[in-house]
Amino acid sequence: MKIVRVTPYVLDYALPQAFESASMRFDRRQHCLVEVVCDDGTVGWGECLGPARLNAAVVRQYGEALRGADPLETEKCWLMLYHLLRDHGQRGLTMTALSGIDIALWDIKGQHFQTSIATLLGGRFREQVAAYATGSFRLDGMDRVQAVADEVAGYAREGFRAVKIKIGFDVEEDLRVIAAAREAIGPDVRLMIDANHGYDALEAIELGQRAATYQVDWFEEPVVPEQLAAYRAVHQGQPIPVASGENWHGREAMSGPLSEAVVDILQPDVCAVGGFTEMRKVVDLAHHHGVRVMPHVWGTAVAIAASLQCLAALPPYPPRRTPREPMMEFDRTVNPFRQAVVQTPLEHQQGMMTIPSGPGLGIEINPDALDQYLVQDSH
Ligand SMILES: [Mg+2]
Repeated sequence: MKIVRVTPYVLDYALPQAFESASMRFDRRQHCLVEVVCDDGTVGWGECLGPARLNAAVVRQYGEALRGADPLETEKCWLMLYHLLRDHGQRGLTMTALSGIDIALWDIKGQHFQTSIATLLGGRFREQVAAYATGSFRLDGMDRVQAVADEVAGYAREGFRAVKIKIGFDVEEDLRVIAAAREAIGPDVRLMIDANHGYDALEAIELGQRAATYQVDWFEEPVVPEQLAAYRAVHQGQPIPVASGENWHGREAMSGPLSEAVVDILQPDVCAVGGFTEMRKVVDLAHHHGVRVMPHVWGTAVAIAASLQCLAALPPYPPRRTPREPMMEFDRTVNPFRQAVVQTPLEHQQGMMTIPSGPGLGIEINPDALDQYLVQDSH
């Protein structure tokens, strides 16, 4: 089997109402999918995290190099592509684009061997996973305290047993939001906070010290990802477990925070960390350092499917009779093509998600949705 074509698809939707995290404003939804076609007709799909048009440009560059390669040789393909842009890459777009291609190659491998990617990765430790709702972004002109309380109460009513809210804007207002969220969901639903690196170390320490009383499971991306000294200060200076990893791409980026023990929960994203090929190494590295893994997820059903395969194959850690189960991040913001890109949506039922067991990613792409949301000059 040989690769004959690698095609990026940039999907786009103009949001009627923009929303913001502490670090980014979203007025459109744009995601880059990757299609890899083989000479025997097998087609694999992947997805890249981050700026879709820029990812598409790197995917095209990689795709030329990949033509004629054997898609089953995932490690060989990964190294060849990594080396192609190593001198100008190692992290960022070169890794997110590589992730989308690697996911598609594993999808092909699963179809070839007629088994799920999780099985190829070593086995399915679980068939279902609890999902947590991610939302509560800042909307223009709204009372954020009341809006977040109403939103998370809705997630609890839907059956989610855990929710994650956005902070990182202003310490005093964020504390009011956290208090209102805890009040709205009651004591039994888990609550996580995500600052999207909106604070400096002093703000993060103050927030963490004062928010701990609201039973917060983790404090995500308190400070900018490249400042390990700030991470160390936050880790030591406040009591909430520190989580991060969506913006650390690949083993090399993860090894500093892990070996310096400044993070309690690692959050690699399969669409950014380097695909399945790198994800399994990062999981091994995290467990070697005694750190829990809780994958980051942000994208379409292709990213959701890839993340579910990672979660199925994530070894229970530590191994014990009653394992501590990981959770699936489930984005609740507006994105009409999130589920439309697949024939069978990957939804939750009462906060639980079933992990597809079909070959590869276990999904079937809906070409009508690609046509509807495709940016015409993107591939
Ligand atoms: Mg985050």
